[in-house]
Amino acid sequence: MILIGTMNLTRTRERGEFYCPTCGATRSYRLRARRPFLTLYFIPTVPIGAAEMFIQCDDCRSSWDESVLEMDQAAHQLVQEEKFRDEAIRSAVLIALVDDNVSEPEIQSLLELSDVLFDRPIDREELGRLCSIARQAGIQANNYVLTVSKRWTMQQRLLALQGMFLAATATADDVSPEKLKMLHSMRDLLELTDQEFEIAIDDALNYDIA
Ligand SMILES: [Zn+2]
Repeated sequence: MILIGTMNLTRTRERGEFYCPTCGATRSYRLRARRPFLTLYFIPTVPIGAAEMFIQCDDCRSSWDESVLEMDQAAHQLVQEEKFRDEAIRSAVLIALVDDNVSEPEIQSLLELSDVLFDRPIDREELGRLCSIARQAGIQANNYVLTVSKRWTMQQRLLALQGMFLAATATADDVSPEKLKMLHSMRDLLELTDQEFEIAIDDALNYDIA
């Protein structure tokens, strides 16, 4: 009896450096070729298909299509930065919605902090849309931040916290305990120390926002 089978052989074709989106940094990679072979008595003999090429990060081991080499760091960071801005504004909106109504001072504060803190000006109409989407989805601020903040850098975490603080305290003379509680829970969610939390809040008071 002749033992015939197939197996995939993976070979490294090339090495180099690339920007790994998972690591968020420049890493070394291997360009690998995976190709199915016919085996006779478990020994690969003839290739029976085309080689499939992929890039593998030496650090985190994630695999990418070869096109990842064309994606440069600047482009990737720009996309990440834009996403962060939207997420941070949404977090601030959710904090304002903790007591389920958005007052005029809160609207002013959200419009201004979008512009000043996140460099992403929005108008009343867009803010209204964001509020109604948030209401419909029914996602709580803490649950939202818990998931999206995993991708944020430390600097982004601090900035997002400042946005949430300014939104929560927009009605300075009448801040609900629920909002303060929610704001305080962000310290653990964002994995900040007491000191980092306090400095960020203190710093937020310096922004010239209504
Ligand atoms: Zn990596």
